[in-house]
Amino acid sequence: MILFAGTSLFAGIDDKKKKKSNKKKSHKTVKKAIVKPVKKDDTTTVVIRDDIFMDSVDSLLMFPSHDLYGNWDTSLIHPYLFDQHFTSDSSVVYLLDDWSCGFSMPNKGAVTSDFGWRRRRPHYGTDIDLETGDTVVAAFDGRVRIAKFNTGGYGNVVVIRHNNGLETVYAHLSKLLVEPGQELTSGTTIGLGGNTGHSYGSHLHFEMRFLGRALDTEDVVDFEKGEVKNAALVLYKEDFTAKYDLRNLHAKNISKSHTTSKQSASGKSSKGKMVTVKTGDTLSKIAKRNKTTISAICKKNGIKQTKVLRPGMKLKL
Ligand SMILES: [Zn+2]
Repeated sequence: MILFAGTSLFAGIDDKKKKKSNKKKSHKTVKKAIVKPVKKDDTTTVVIRDDIFMDSVDSLLMFPSHDLYGNWDTSLIHPYLFDQHFTSDSSVVYLLDDWSCGFSMPNKGAVTSDFGWRRRRPHYGTDIDLETGDTVVAAFDGRVRIAKFNTGGYGNVVVIRHNNGLETVYAHLSKLLVEPGQELTSGTTIGLGGNTGHSYGSHLHFEMRFLGRALDTEDVVDFEKGEVKNAALVLYKEDFTAKYDLRNLHAKNISKSHTTSKQSASGKSSKGKMVTVKTGDTLSKIAKRNKTTISAICKKNGIKQTKVLRPGMKLKL
């Protein structure tokens, strides 16, 4: 278990928020937690723990992965200070632990766009094709942190904090069917798919985040099989710069392609400095072979296009 020094950073904000937004809702959830074991005749530790959590309503203990995040913000989608939170070199996320009801595909549609650089901007999620009105469900057990309209592009968006340490984001929904603070299990309907926010055509934009940083969902989920690839996920801090930081990767790719083009340019000029005329060569053949033009060769060598080439003759390119 990891404890973060960053916890105190959020304490002031959280206290206020808790008083404001969770006091009212706590009655609702307490009721739910009491009803749950009776209704489900469930004796698993989840229920017992829920009851313990409900007794400490004023504590962050009632929120999933409280030890990891140390805050609970129902207004900001990305309130985390990753570097302060991720203090070790690696972290293991037990996707399906003993208490969990497993994993559910948010929607069974086809993947239409992957995590990666897209249209000159980072795409931190996976797009799943659906029709407006199709149901979207929670991937894992957890508690709804955000359920509102976001003007930044997500449109109607739900963010769920999971017991396993991840957060998932479901964007462009046409309808929200949950509210912040609500506890849910994997597979619970959270909203209806749609085309709200920055979206071209109905689809679900689905993100998986750890301490606020997006992962490639396809590292976690096999979208064809509709299941998680492994029960546990090991995340290395360096993955978040080497693998998942799309802006950083894009910048590296650009500088790489610049270096490559520089190299090839210089390679071309060093390779093309001189060429020896072979038997049967013509200016046209040499130009074609070296991806240049007859006039360029003539200009560089101070010769006319009618110049008769001798085998063994050196030409500048
Ligand atoms: Zn998307």
